[in-house]
Amino acid sequence: MTEPATSPQGLPFDPEERIDLLLGHLGTRREGLGEREAARRLEQYGRNEIRRREGRGWLRELARQFTHPLALLLWAAAALAAGGGMGALAVAIVAVIVLNALFAFAQELQAERATEALREFLPPLARVRRDGEVAEVPASSLVPGDLLLLSEGDRISADARLISGSVEVDMSPLTGESQPVGRSSARVRPASSPLEAEDLVFSGTLVTAGEAEAVVYATGMSTQLGRIAALTQRVRGEVSPLQVQVNRAARLIALVAVVAGVAFLAFGTLVARLPLADALVFAISLLVANVPEGLLPTITLALAVGVRRMARRRALLKRLTAVETLGSTDVICTDKTGTLTEGRMVVSRFWAGGEELVPEDGREKEVGEPFSALLRTAVRCSNARIERSAEGWERRGDPSESALLAAAAALGEDVERAQEERSERRRRLYHFDARLKRMTTADEEPDGALWYHSKGAPLELLGRCARVRTPEGERPLSAADREAVREAFERYAGSGLRVLGFAEKRAGGMQPEEERDLAEEGLTFLGLAALEDPPRPEVADAVARCHRAGIRIIVVTGDHGLTAGAVARRVGIVRGEPRIVTGAMVDGMKQAELDALLREERELIVARSNPETKLHIVDALRGEGHTVAMTGDGVNDAPALRRADIGVAMGGSGTEVAREAATMVLTDDSFSSIVAAVEEGRVVYDNIRKFVTYIFAHTTPEVVPFLIYALSGGAVPLPLTVMQILAIDLGTETLPALALGREPAEPGIMERPPRPRGRGILDRPMLVRAWLWLGLVEAALVTGGFFYVLLSAGWSPGEAVGPGSPLHASYLAATTMTFAGITACQIGTAFATRTSRASLRQIGVFSNRLLLWGILFEVLFAAAVIYLPPLQRIFGTGALGVRELLVLAAFPLVVWATDELRRAFVRRRAGWPEGPA
Ligand code: ADP
Ligand code: MG
Repeated sequence: MTEPATSPQGLPFDPEERIDLLLGHLGTRREGLGEREAARRLEQYGRNEIRRREGRGWLRELARQFTHPLALLLWAAAALAAGGGMGALAVAIVAVIVLNALFAFAQELQAERATEALREFLPPLARVRRDGEVAEVPASSLVPGDLLLLSEGDRISADARLISGSVEVDMSPLTGESQPVGRSSARVRPASSPLEAEDLVFSGTLVTAGEAEAVVYATGMSTQLGRIAALTQRVRGEVSPLQVQVNRAARLIALVAVVAGVAFLAFGTLVARLPLADALVFAISLLVANVPEGLLPTITLALAVGVRRMARRRALLKRLTAVETLGSTDVICTDKTGTLTEGRMVVSRFWAGGEELVPEDGREKEVGEPFSALLRTAVRCSNARIERSAEGWERRGDPSESALLAAAAALGEDVERAQEERSERRRRLYHFDARLKRMTTADEEPDGALWYHSKGAPLELLGRCARVRTPEGERPLSAADREAVREAFERYAGSGLRVLGFAEKRAGGMQPEEERDLAEEGLTFLGLAALEDPPRPEVADAVARCHRAGIRIIVVTGDHGLTAGAVARRVGIVRGEPRIVTGAMVDGMKQAELDALLREERELIVARSNPETKLHIVDALRGEGHTVAMTGDGVNDAPALRRADIGVAMGGSGTEVAREAATMVLTDDSFSSIVAAVEEGRVVYDNIRKFVTYIFAHTTPEVVPFLIYALSGGAVPLPLTVMQILAIDLGTETLPALALGREPAEPGIMERPPRPRGRGILDRPMLVRAWLWLGLVEAALVTGGFFYVLLSAGWSPGEAVGPGSPLHASYLAATTMTFAGITACQIGTAFATRTSRASLRQIGVFSNRLLLWGILFEVLFAAAVIYLPPLQRIFGTGALGVRELLVLAAFPLVVWATDELRRAFVRRRAGWPEGPA
């Protein structure tokens, strides 16, 4: 045993000692650990996971629920009640505050759990070498000693020492430094801290370029990330525009309530000459009536339900608050390959010198030049692999590349052997560059010479060629040759095929060029491959829904405009002649030009886009006030994904880096899932407005009785007590409100234009509907009910109704009638607010089961308050007779019917078709 070196991470060895020593200390080899040993170590070291310390976070959260403006208002009411000698009421209000806070807290906790649970749908994977074989394992099962394979787009999931290759790493999750830094196994100078060591990489960071192999020396809580996580508290999620709005509304409501309370206190004592105690009750009642108690937790719940519904439709959201942003999305920028199309490519034909070659299995035909050179290039210049399996070829890697390998195999090439040879012969790889749109390898061929093999965007590649290979041999490229290539390319691309070009060159010496530019010039053109990538069947429908919903779709693709245009037409994104611009054009435009282009061209395709193009487009669109969803899959897309309102990454094909940057991850990679998520976003926003309308509607019938009382100077007794208001706000209403938050989509929800960015959740039409339309109808009915009971008992204005007076029992029944009346009216309101435009017939009376249960609960709760003697004492109620109940039974129908009429009117005016019966 060598002497344990002191390591900054408290490890029994120095991660920067000589590689062979380090491998020895970690008990591993370059072939990696054995499966059995890896399993044993997993037992020993534990899972590779970061456990955040939750600590005092939740205490603060809970405290926040007690100090919210609405809670403060209730505290004030409680204080007033206590000061006025109404101990029981004060206790009741405090109980309300506590219950409410606990409820809100529980909702938030549950919502947070729900979003966290979603992450488990897409467990991060890591590529390791075990027993000499490359395997993909869950990142949580990495152990010290594992040999980790890193490549562009990977998230590094353990602390490791590079043993070969070099990578560029985005260290920002650890250091906050956003500029990627180079890390290489060839360490040059000693570092002052491990984070700066040139040959170490750390868990939580991202590979933005390059390829390397590394040996894991720390996992889980022993990593640098784990140490930081152990020190810091859980980060609070940011506040969404919705929360800001709701908080602002809450503050406004609080202000209105206080002003109204104080004003009427003054009015009651000075003008109406009520006794101070009565006026105080009155002020408290106003405060309590105005506070929408269940509002905040119900909103959280609606968002959480939305996230869950989206997950079921294959869109995972990383933030609860993104739900509402999705609902207001009005532009979707989508890429083509894999999102609009299947992304499972098949070579439909090869082309060279005017000849076509169709790959077909089992056809024994001699493949002549230049096709054989083309196939060799396709196999050499590739990082994909195929393996023979029971049902044909199992493919791994880039879909175009693996399709080329499969086609070569179908034409009789021994691809499996060639794949083995490939890595031995390769001297250098010039990575696929999204800007250049090509890639090249330098390979030592059996003839002993070094050859460059290139493939990429055909016309661009043709531009780098000087010669062409034909069945008759090689010759300089003529203008006619170039024209022939262009013609063939346009024919294929115009029918929606993805076309790749191939070229080769014999190098001067045996040393590959340092400069990629020199390697990729003066090439010999070989031919084309046309790949079929059929549109996904479900996309056309999703596109049509987008168009009806006023959502614009812009295709941004690295592919050629002809291909993109053909695919866009096939799925219905464009109907006429789309305007096709290239990424280079967009990148070169002035801001004003780009704005004008985006404003004027409804049917726009951005082809041959560069990594920056997406960023330019997102910025321009957002600058114009649009809410933009943008898809992306590569490392280069990360900035645009972050900048977009909704960055969309692919769960299946994208890189870990893109997933990290995105707000939403699609588990099926399909465009239609974006549209489904937008629809769910709209549903959630709608539903929040539904229950806000519902909760607000009772304010008017709760306030009006007090006005009558005050304005009559006490000649009319108080028609509703504070305790009864609490019974409504926190009893009967709670479940129906929650149920409204789960309404299914309203018909026509994807037929109306997107909600303008920044439009509040509380707007005037909604408040008018709640307070002045539904609310006034309710108030009229309720007041009518109250007087009906009182008058039919023989009461005349001014007559005493206090305890001991002959009319006291009738008075109790009359306030009970007000209470029951509001409850009954709110049943009608619940049905009315289920839709904002559609008729109840269109959605069906029974389509929200939860609401039916909620209403049943509401009725039972009210019945208990009215008929159970102990509750009668608390709430000051008296039993109602059959006649009163019959009157009450009409209330919901009246309220619902008035709004049904209003909605019919709105539909008529908007020229809305009557939906299916
Ligand atoms: P898309 O938007 O279709 O995903 P990409 O950015 O992947 O487009 O590719 C853009 C262009 O780059 C393609 O049209 C093709 O010409 C070329 N290309 C793509 N992948 C490769 C590759 N692995 N090797 C060489 N060229 C490629
Ligand atoms: Mg691509």
